[in-house]
Amino acid sequence: MHELLRLDTRHVWHPYGPMPATVPPLLVEEASGVRLRLADGTELIDGMSSWWAVVHGHRHPVLDAALREQAGRMSHVMFGGLTHEPAIRLATNLVDLTPDGLEHVFLCDSGSVSVEVALKMCLQYWRSLGRTKKTRMLTWRGGYHGDTFHPMSVCDPEGGMHALWRGVLPEQVFVPEPPPGFDAPVDQSYVDVLVRAVEEHADELAAVVVEPVVQGAGGMRFHNPDYLRVLREVTERHDVLLVFDEIATGFGRTGAFFAAEHAGVTPDVFCVGKALTGGYLTMAATLCTPRVADGISRGEVPVLAHGPTFMGNPLAAAVANASIGLLADGSWRDEVRRIERALTEGLAPAAEVPGVLDVRVLGAIGVVQLDRPVDMAVATETLTSRGVWLRPFRDLVYTMPPYVTSDADLALVTEAMVATARVLTA
Ligand code: PMP
Repeated sequence: MHELLRLDTRHVWHPYGPMPATVPPLLVEEASGVRLRLADGTELIDGMSSWWAVVHGHRHPVLDAALREQAGRMSHVMFGGLTHEPAIRLATNLVDLTPDGLEHVFLCDSGSVSVEVALKMCLQYWRSLGRTKKTRMLTWRGGYHGDTFHPMSVCDPEGGMHALWRGVLPEQVFVPEPPPGFDAPVDQSYVDVLVRAVEEHADELAAVVVEPVVQGAGGMRFHNPDYLRVLREVTERHDVLLVFDEIATGFGRTGAFFAAEHAGVTPDVFCVGKALTGGYLTMAATLCTPRVADGISRGEVPVLAHGPTFMGNPLAAAVANASIGLLADGSWRDEVRRIERALTEGLAPAAEVPGVLDVRVLGAIGVVQLDRPVDMAVATETLTSRGVWLRPFRDLVYTMPPYVTSDADLALVTEAMVATARVLTA
């Protein structure tokens, strides 16, 4: 075994893994465009956009240049009492790009932290207004919002990775998962369930928190955007805030710049992350409306008591601005449409495989759902032997490729997914 891998196995904790690890990870030496180059010289297409973030591919010359240029000025200064152009430009860009009405931006270090901040904003808003009973969140099952404790409390309570923490996490209000299918007709009985749940719990609810249109790490499920309109209407009517977590869906992934656009809805609080920096550095943001910010500032404690050390990091902000700049000409829209067509065509044969329950595509997201849990060792071997890097979970083999992935590379990814579905269900 490579000396580095020996040390890795002995000392390094990997995501969602045991210590020591039971399966050694692959050692990556370089990444360029859509390809990862491993220590043994193997090249793999990064069909995951490195956990959905690297939308422009690796080592993009514009992003590399932005990072170098910023490092030549300053890599970091504290954000308490100081400010700087990269952060100011980023906040302004986000206000321009997100749904109308979101005007204030809290920059933070990761998606989970941005959800923490979102929930803190909502809880503090009601506290400031003297509505101290409004301390719970409502969400639908099948969601995922991060691994720190308050975000864990709004993740799916059964299927998620956090079932272990029942009794420790705050107990939130759960409704059933939204009926599947982006194009599926609205199910009126489900609308009634949503409306009734919000009505019934309104006095104790601070906010409704959901991933709009795509439930990602909770199961890669899509739903009709009309349910978001229902949530907006009922939360407004019953004095409950609405939070959209667009950490996975933001920056074009679903075919709209933000998934909220599919519904034409502005929530009160909005989280972005992942592709914000083109996948270069860790940064996320929580946006809110003036109503939320004003409410908080009217409270006994008029400040938002949150301030990470690396808040507004100039390197991350500069590369985020460059990434947003690359998206500004709108060509991502054609690329995502092209990827959607290629995934739809390429994954169609999977629907014929016995043992495949569902094949679904939305924007640059392609999912093959099996009737059994994925054997990770077999899946990884089948995929990597075909030059493709994917990280299936549960019963799902899925891809979220970088927008720059060529048709030829998309064909390799979809062929590898179909082959994997066949091998796993044989
Ligand atoms: N919300 C959503 C919708 C996510 O997909 C994720 C990450 N998969 C998070 C929150 C948490 O983000 P992070 O891993 O950056 O903490």
